Amino acid sequence: MKILAVGMNYAEHNKELNNSLLLQNPVIFSKPESAVIRENKPFFVPDWAQRFDYETELVVRINRLGKNIPERFAYRYYDEVTLGIDFTARDLQSELRSKGLPWEICKAFDGSAAVGEFISKTELPAIQNIHFHMDIEGQTVQTGWTGDMIHSVDKIISYVSQFFTLKTGDLIFTGTPAGVGPVSEGMHLTGYIEDRKVLEQRIK
Ligand code: MG
Repeated sequence: MKILAVGMNYAEHNKELNNSLLLQNPVIFSKPESAVIRENKPFFVPDWAQRFDYETELVVRINRLGKNIPERFAYRYYDEVTLGIDFTARDLQSELRSKGLPWEICKAFDGSAAVGEFISKTELPAIQNIHFHMDIEGQTVQTGWTGDMIHSVDKIISYVSQFFTLKTGDLIFTGTPAGVGPVSEGMHLTGYIEDRKVLEQRIK
């Protein structure tokens, strides 16, 4: 199982990170299986960077083998979605970016991919019309609407499948809306798709 993730997929988030880039194709990075946190297990803040941010993202689970998937057929390759947190060592990312280096150590470390409870897409609005939000101690800190994505879920699946064979169980993190921020020990994050709680994440 692998995780493919999209960077800079919501215009408002790109502004908050001072990225004016509007790229023709999605920006893709990956995380290994060892990055996954499931079943509400806690995120332990590592000691090798100063600032770890939450990024709340719609996550799509691939349900069949696929390569070179045309965009118009991409919907057949997933039937469940959830919310995930793309934990990012922000200070380290800034340093790597400034040097033009790869992002793996700031984005793909152990525990950097929290994954919630999956919901059948048949129980939700259309894939590009889903609202989600993340609360910290009951206060909403991030809200997203998939209609604001720069690159749609189907486009992302089609695009990445040119380079990577998709397999059952692979996860696609589709990018974060604006509102990212740092986590600290003791925080409790709760993620909702529409009004359904799908993710609880404790920070330790
Ligand atoms: Mg992200």
